[in-house]
Amino acid sequence: MNLFRSALLAIVAFVLSVTMPVVAQQKPAATLAELRQTANLIPGRKPLRINVVKFAESLRTKNFSVKGAPAEPSVQARTAFQVVYSDGTVMIDSGMDQQVHKFFGRGVDEPYDAAAAQQVEKAVRSARFIVMTHEHGDHVAGVIRTPYVNEIAAKTVLTKTQVATLLTNPQMPEIKLTPEMAARYIVMDYERVYPFAPGMALMKAAGHTPGSQMIYVVLESGAEYLFIGDSAWHMDGVRLMKVKDANWIKEDEDALMGQLVWLNGLMKTDPKLHIIASHDDEQRKQLVASGILGGTFE
Ligand SMILES: [Zn+2]
Repeated sequence: MNLFRSALLAIVAFVLSVTMPVVAQQKPAATLAELRQTANLIPGRKPLRINVVKFAESLRTKNFSVKGAPAEPSVQARTAFQVVYSDGTVMIDSGMDQQVHKFFGRGVDEPYDAAAAQQVEKAVRSARFIVMTHEHGDHVAGVIRTPYVNEIAAKTVLTKTQVATLLTNPQMPEIKLTPEMAARYIVMDYERVYPFAPGMALMKAAGHTPGSQMIYVVLESGAEYLFIGDSAWHMDGVRLMKVKDANWIKEDEDALMGQLVWLNGLMKTDPKLHIIASHDDEQRKQLVASGILGGTFE
């Protein structure tokens, strides 16, 4: 009996030693309860509304965004978001210029909306500050490749990890920072969650890139949003818990799967939470049509 018990314990210990590190790695950095609490730490009026603008498209098929999905056309919207407070705005991501846009087309001439891109630039310039979901060109180029870089860098918050990627391993040469350029930005670091502004909390979510983070926003009305950046390109990735299948990007798939499983669970436990993927054009249209997001910048 004792022998049987100790053998059983040994097996349990072995299984735990094999599976524990993976489980620990896959666990998201925080719970929704922690994000809600963190977003309430900074005193002040919460945001009133959130707007989205699409400034470019990539013409791809869904199988790249969602592993195993049919190869049917699936537009990837390139977007930025404006969080509107009673006394100013905060930008989530910053758009990109046409040269960086061409990088993403990889030889294909994809739609670029110059008027919308100008709207994004105007919103970035008039924002109180700017925060990034991650350090890829279609999200950060607007605070790097801009004639207004001096004024914009001084109010752009990058994480240490995002800066490290931009210094040493940028997605494309156009967005590479020198140490002198990096010194112009507000650079911060945190472990898991961070109270960013009234009603706003950041959560570490490495996976798509080392510097990826999710951004939780609760409005004065109580409406809740979770900007997941590129953790999924299409919300089907969350719904079906499927990672991408795009050989031109290198991701930490274990970490991403942990995020997708967590987000999928939130869809069931907190159906009122708006989980928003940066590039899902179908979702963007629905959210704008239903008034959950505004469709222009102010
Ligand atoms: Zn992106």
